[in-house]
Amino acid sequence: MEQIRSDFTFRSIESQYKKALEYGYEIITCSQYVNLKAKNNLPKLIIVNRVDIDLSMKKADRLRIIFDNLGIKATFFVRLHAKEYNPFSFESYRILKKIRESGHEIGYHSEIIDQAAIWNEDAESCLKKDLIILNTLLDINILGVASHGGMTGLNNLDFWKNKKPSEFGLLYEAYDKQNEFNLFDKSFYISDSEWIRWKCYNNGIICNGDNRPFHEHLKSLHPVIYLLIHPDTYFDNHIYEE
Ligand SMILES: [Zn+2]
Repeated sequence: MEQIRSDFTFRSIESQYKKALEYGYEIITCSQYVNLKAKNNLPKLIIVNRVDIDLSMKKADRLRIIFDNLGIKATFFVRLHAKEYNPFSFESYRILKKIRESGHEIGYHSEIIDQAAIWNEDAESCLKKDLIILNTLLDINILGVASHGGMTGLNNLDFWKNKKPSEFGLLYEAYDKQNEFNLFDKSFYISDSEWIRWKCYNNGIICNGDNRPFHEHLKSLHPVIYLLIHPDTYFDNHIYEE
């Protein structure tokens, strides 16, 4: 009988985070990274823990429970225009409040270039409006934006080519190269964004053919790991469960 790959069960990801703690890693949010970096006070071994909520708020809550059990923090990036979830639905709003109350950071998972193209509106106005809406909705002050890679073929990151996060009252964009952040180019980046396997970049350069799971990189003791995971990737029994 074929075995289902077990890398992406909730049980597996929980044990991978646990292992990171055993290696002595401190697991922090994106805005904590900016603040600690500014103070020149970064711990020796850190994992910047980024979660992009692409499709499933329910699974984001599963990750939140895992993080809370382990006593670690993450930055959860939330979409406003997804057809898969509505942040103001009864269940999503309840989950987002729980994420906020547990002390995690909430950021904006931006689709502003997509919005500008589809709606024929100005991307900058879209961003400003979205930040006001998400801040008001959750009574927070968003400090960071991560650009979502969607289905339009456009790159939401392009918006930031000639703009700075501070122009919008933000501390960072998740891939920005300004000195205050510059995390992607100055870290070991590990992501589950290929769904069925991991990928990694060393200081911005892809490690071709290295699809080892997150925990297998821990023994290398990279001082700064930038970890990006998507709740949708994880399951208890199989990928199609809700
Ligand atoms: Zn995304």
